[in-house]
Amino acid sequence: MASTKILISPTGYAHLPGQCVHHVEDPDTANWGWINDADLRYWDRIQENNPAAATSGNLDLAATRRCRHCDTKLHQA
Ligand SMILES: [Zn+2]
Repeated sequence: MASTKILISPTGYAHLPGQCVHHVEDPDTANWGWINDADLRYWDRIQENNPAAATSGNLDLAATRRCRHCDTKLHQA
């Protein structure tokens, strides 16, 4: 996969859909934000000084950390 949806939790963590137990069934009602069709290289650059701002859902959210579980799953594939 070259692009993915990146989910952004209210705690500032970025997740990939279905890759870990932290993923919520319905990000919309859980008040999460997300980015549609994000480049996977973009995921790798998410960090404290390069936050990923939500483009859908809760626009107030930005991820500054990558979920370790999602990151591991991604790089195994
Ligand atoms: Zn995760």
